[in-house]
Amino acid sequence: MSPFKERAKEMADQTISLRRTLHQNPELGFKEFKTSNLVSEFLEEYGVKVRRGLAVTGLVAEIEGQSGEANGMLRFDMDALPIHEETGLEFASKTSGVMHACGHDGHMAAGVSVARMLQEQHASLPGNVKCIFQPAEEGDGGAKKMIEEGVLKNPKPDFILGFHLWNEKPTGTICIKSGPLMAAGDTFEIRVSGKGGHGGLPQQTIDPIVCAAQIVTALQTIVSRNLSPFDQAVLSLGSIHGGTTFNVIPDEVKVKGTLRTFDKLIREKMLERMKEIIQGTATAMGCRGELTVSEIAPAVINDARIAQRVKAAVAGKYPELMIDESYQTSVSEDFGYYLEDVPGCYLLIGSGNAAKGKIYSHHHPRFDFDEDVLSLAAGILADCCIALLRESPID
Ligand SMILES: [Zn+2]
Ligand SMILES: [Zn+2]
Repeated sequence: MSPFKERAKEMADQTISLRRTLHQNPELGFKEFKTSNLVSEFLEEYGVKVRRGLAVTGLVAEIEGQSGEANGMLRFDMDALPIHEETGLEFASKTSGVMHACGHDGHMAAGVSVARMLQEQHASLPGNVKCIFQPAEEGDGGAKKMIEEGVLKNPKPDFILGFHLWNEKPTGTICIKSGPLMAAGDTFEIRVSGKGGHGGLPQQTIDPIVCAAQIVTALQTIVSRNLSPFDQAVLSLGSIHGGTTFNVIPDEVKVKGTLRTFDKLIREKMLERMKEIIQGTATAMGCRGELTVSEIAPAVINDARIAQRVKAAVAGKYPELMIDESYQTSVSEDFGYYLEDVPGCYLLIGSGNAAKGKIYSHHHPRFDFDEDVLSLAAGILADCCIALLRESPID
């Protein structure tokens, strides 16, 4: 039996209460000022040393062990989303149009409990741990900024762990996968320029709408015709805009979309083919086609050795959990940036519960998760962290 599992259960009411306070007061990326203050107040109350102000609102909670040279890092994210909450919960968001609809409120509450438990046990910790609370995970570059401001230096951690509450999986399930778990995400914009004019006189124009339509269709052939059936990629277009009325051919059409991949070479191949199709089709139709790409996050690729040790720790201490080792998702997560520098493992902990009505997916205005998972998650993170500290350096 794990002492952390028991201790996390004892603290469950406090963890849930903090989650609800955070849920009522959501803040968007890089604006998590009240959130950051609240989290640091709790950490300091529990005797944890906190460094503030990294990446605007980021926090680093430092727990010094008494023995060993190993250094572990645990990451929790803090931002909410620009969504108007429709859960009807008694602790629903007090800020109109902003909601913790991804579960980051739960991540922070569990994170505070993990830091508290590790601090309580610091005299016997086989190394040092930094619990980092990161702003702006939802596409605004929080992880990248934390890294640019040195969170992975002095000392460089031996490993990093993180988790997401995961409503796509039921309570009682945990996904621990070696290798690619979550997709690299890119957003892109295609600009098709032609020559506008009268809709009744097409011969005097170069129609970007017809050209954009050809490009939209041709882009869908990349995954089906250019990739091996054993490779994975998603190319989705989410917005197309051009023109103002029925009888005017516009000068320009803009198309926006997202690309999801699990492998750097596949990503490069997709981008290369997209460029060829956009430019080639546009040229053939007398237009000009341009592609602008911006990276949201690299793929989350778990280190095989660390994932193996995490799995052993979870299987040993939480035998009641179903471990899913093959689950993969094309959702993106900026934890991938840390994994480019430091070996680690990102866990998805099942938090969907149909019996309790927790059936809505992440980013839905009615999203909520099973709060009983918070103490479970805190125990798991603490236990895995200790197991890895004991075995560091990992080779
Ligand atoms: Zn999200
Ligand atoms: Zn999230």
